[in-house]
Amino acid sequence: MTIVRVALPLPLPQVFDYAASDASAADIGRCVKVPFGRGERSGLIVALDAEAEVDLARLKTVHHIQRDVPPLPADWLELVAFVARYYHAPIGEVVALALPPGLRRADGVSGEDEDPLLEIAPVGHAALGAARRPSKALALLQALAQDVAPWRRSVIREREGGEAVGELLRRGWLGVAVDEAQRRGTTGVLPALTDEQDSAVRAILQTGEGFRTWLLQGVTGSGKTEVYLRLAEQMLSQGRQVLMLVPEIALTPQLERRVAQRFAAANVVSLHSGLADGARSRGFVQALSGHADIVLGTRLAVFAPLPRLGLILVDEEHDASYKQQEGVRYSARDVAVWRGRQRDVPVVLGSATPSLETWYHARAERYALQVLNQRAVAASMPTVRCIDVRRLKLDEGLSPGLKAAIEQRLARGEQSLVFLNRRGYAPVLSCPSCGWVSRCPHCSANLVVHLADRRLRCHHCGCDGGIPHACPSCGNQDIQPFGRGTQRIEARLAELFPQARVLRVDRDAARTRKQWESLLATIAEGGADILVGTQMMAKGHDFPKLTLVGVVGADASLHAADFRAPERLFQQLMQVGGRAGRGTLPGEVLIQTEYPAHPLYLHLARHDFDAFARMELQERRSAGFPPFTYQAMLRADAPALDDAVEFLRHARRLAEERAPEGLRIYDPVPMRMTRLARRERAQLLVEADQRGVLQGFLAGWVALLYCQRTARELRWQLDVDPLEV
Ligand code: ADP
Ligand code: ZN
Ligand code: ZN
Repeated sequence: MTIVRVALPLPLPQVFDYAASDASAADIGRCVKVPFGRGERSGLIVALDAEAEVDLARLKTVHHIQRDVPPLPADWLELVAFVARYYHAPIGEVVALALPPGLRRADGVSGEDEDPLLEIAPVGHAALGAARRPSKALALLQALAQDVAPWRRSVIREREGGEAVGELLRRGWLGVAVDEAQRRGTTGVLPALTDEQDSAVRAILQTGEGFRTWLLQGVTGSGKTEVYLRLAEQMLSQGRQVLMLVPEIALTPQLERRVAQRFAAANVVSLHSGLADGARSRGFVQALSGHADIVLGTRLAVFAPLPRLGLILVDEEHDASYKQQEGVRYSARDVAVWRGRQRDVPVVLGSATPSLETWYHARAERYALQVLNQRAVAASMPTVRCIDVRRLKLDEGLSPGLKAAIEQRLARGEQSLVFLNRRGYAPVLSCPSCGWVSRCPHCSANLVVHLADRRLRCHHCGCDGGIPHACPSCGNQDIQPFGRGTQRIEARLAELFPQARVLRVDRDAARTRKQWESLLATIAEGGADILVGTQMMAKGHDFPKLTLVGVVGADASLHAADFRAPERLFQQLMQVGGRAGRGTLPGEVLIQTEYPAHPLYLHLARHDFDAFARMELQERRSAGFPPFTYQAMLRADAPALDDAVEFLRHARRLAEERAPEGLRIYDPVPMRMTRLARRERAQLLVEADQRGVLQGFLAGWVALLYCQRTARELRWQLDVDPLEV
């Protein structure tokens, strides 16, 4: 009888012992089904154990070990253990998050192509050509090369044994056969690199193998993607796998196509939460078995097991979506850097507007830096100008200058984008006679007016209802939408420019990936003249006809409470402004503001990210904010605010008893948006100047917190390196 330690997806810090009659060390890293309580759970074997922590006789027996998928390798188990340790999350929950749901359920990998057609991959051909020492694998490859490709995996396995096929796949010598149709899509001619791109590629390749973190800081349109592709190409030719992270699912289709076209002979796998269970499991298993050459995905792809990993790319590394905001609050970018160190491979973080943490690391020479200052296609950066709206009469939020600029674009057959980061028609409905406002019954937030489908909707908890015809409080018939969202701007633009095709691009217009793709296609085909968009429009897209970006309502973020608000605003404006003039036509960005002399706007107008970053970092240094300190936030929520605060007070007392030198513990406070979906929320910040001090403290503190009895229905979570404070 063997004792196995199983990580189960439960909010408990420990692993669980089970007995298994037929288990061996080869089962470490395999999924299992085990009895738990009165039911059954699936989990992962993380270790074998000589002795059980409970009485052997009371030990339950595993129901099933899933052996039709290779076990997760040791380095992968180390990775999830690190994430559990650093973010102080239960290992079972990290495993649950890292594994695709289908695989985790251990019910057999449905939808996997069990028996793919294989052929000799480019790396294999290279191996045949090179003068290598004779080996069993090489002899087999030579034999296969005499034969007519492709072959079913089962056929080779039958002929040569499963181990031999595995070996060839691991080396990348064999790959899944690419069908002819796909192969014909290959772009034969690569664009000549610009000098800056060329020196970035060379510099990164020249340092050779081994861990190093690079910041590729390239202005919008400078061709960072081309740099990624060249680096990837080099890695593939050496038989290595590449992990490429992108911030959002919305961005993957375009990039997927581009990567698939460039590497038609390689196996490109995408991993993101929008995939069906079967496809996600299949992609994960292909990565695990070494079939996948490139894994392209959102933050969860950082957990793809990659036996031949050679390079990690993180595009738009500053993007907030790399940080998971519920459950295990990991940062995929930070985990990627850790993985690079663990696997001793280079990591490239790319952005036009790096996070200040990354930028600071690069200036402090902890990260190596490559800069792209020139756009690859466009002759120049767009001109950026502020429109001082203090003394102007605005027409539904639009200044005469912006309207004139749009009109000009229409006359020239070019596209304009009005950027407003607020969807809906108006942020609130209110009654001028009694002061009633449309509050969400479950949150400390207003219900947003959505005129397109005549609803009042909460953007936080999602609850919605019809728009009342009269004030629910006093019966006044004349209730008014206050403020402005994308729908309102869209409506006004349609009135102002009846001949123009106005297209709104926000989360309401693009609910599904399909809708989103069709919107993008419409824009790219020139099927729209004026776009009204939220931050969805800010990232990564390339529309050659788009020459004007008008920014409306940005000032609100200048005065936000969060110390990261200016950084986010600058990033957003630089990104969205970067959509203008990416083709051969020059671009212009107009920012409507009441603070035209604000340094943030001045730096933006000069495209001077570095000056902005220096200014912000100076402030952060004097205020003692990250990256000069390390933070963790303990959050609690409950139906009653008192329960949440009381728990945090108690946690604070526990913290004070054991606080090491250099740890600062703040008072518990209600969160800015206290109520969310009927729960009241409060938070407690702890901070230290050294990561080690904070981490050492958290380990003991969190262990104690797990042992506390809490009020009914109270929940708490720890957020290490929180993005929102
Ligand atoms: P970034 O991600 O830095 O904003 P992209 O990688 O999207 O920029 O590149 C911007 C545009 O320039 C794309 O249309 C891309 O195809 C093109 N491009 C990039 N590098 C080159 C090059 N060396 N020669 C010609 N076109 C290029
Ligand atoms: Zn009223
Ligand atoms: Zn709500």
